[in-house]
Amino acid sequence: MAFFVNPEVFHVANTQVDYEGVDSFLVGFGCEDWRTDTETGAEELVEIAGRRCYNSFESETHKASEFNPNISKVREGNASYIGNILKSGHGAVIEHVYDTYLLHNVSRTMTHELVRHRLANYSQESLRYVRLTDIGMWFPGCFEKHEKAEELRAVFLKAMTQMEDNYKTLEGLLGINDLKSFTQKKKYTSAMRRIMPIGLATGITVTMNARMWRHTIAMRTSHHAEEEIRLVFGIIAKDLKERYPNLFQDMQGAVVDGYMEYTFGHFE
Ligand SMILES: Cc1cc2nc3c(=O)[nH]c(=O)nc-3n(C[C@H](O)[C@H](O)[C@H](O)COP(=O)(O)OP(=O)(O)OC[C@H]3O[C@@H](n4cnc5c(N)ncnc54)[C@H](O)[C@@H]3O)c2cc1C
Repeated sequence: MAFFVNPEVFHVANTQVDYEGVDSFLVGFGCEDWRTDTETGAEELVEIAGRRCYNSFESETHKASEFNPNISKVREGNASYIGNILKSGHGAVIEHVYDTYLLHNVSRTMTHELVRHRLANYSQESLRYVRLTDIGMWFPGCFEKHEKAEELRAVFLKAMTQMEDNYKTLEGLLGINDLKSFTQKKKYTSAMRRIMPIGLATGITVTMNARMWRHTIAMRTSHHAEEEIRLVFGIIAKDLKERYPNLFQDMQGAVVDGYMEYTFGHFE
């Protein structure tokens, strides 16, 4: 039976630091007591990768000039270090950090927009393999607020129910439930999906690095973007800022046209 859904966002993975490896490197490098002040491994990784470029490690017992005589002063603290990377546009350094989100009950409309962002990894529910039983759909916020919301909702429900009936009719005509061959079932399932609407609720897992998350947050929370993708990226933006206050230190948000719009002080 047709039903309404709400898009859901689950953070499912992120970059971890291998401290055994980091400690071994620091001992070999000669700055074994180097430490930083972020509690986030990912932000520490960015600082280590960046400092290794100029050998700008400094600790209580070692001056950076021991490792690079050109250095007279080092930038202290992770927030200040990453702030300088962002300001100077050295975006490649923050590409070491990856986060994965599983987006559940988002529409094919939304995922079609999402996958236009090329520097990412996607795994999407396959409608070649997965035979649909019930149709789920998000009722758009702009309709929810509309004075004729009830009538609009009824039209949505009617369309979804009709779509389900049509799908079941195809299943009956093809006798798909009685087929023994999985290959044949898959062929028919794949063909039948053509009558499904782009509002159909689906699932997609997406992995991006921090530079790309910053880019897509700016593009997709913009008031020019569509409201479902704005809703999803608003949740992702808030979550990433809580996880990585230094990597997202220049991100500012304000409600514009009903959803959070995020902009970056150093956009690159
Ligand atoms: C509000 C809005 C409306 C839109 N409307 C439409 C529309 O009507 N029709 C339509 O077709 N699309 C539309 N799009 C999609 C848009 O055109 C882009 O395809 C999409 O946003 C991907 O963004 P991007 O171009 O920044 O590339 P991404 O894939 O997100 O890549 C990020 C950055 O990496 C760099 N990069 C990536 N690949 C390359 C490359 N091959 N060469 C050089 N540099 C590269 C670029 O600097 C790029 O900005 C819309 C997007 C938005 C946000």
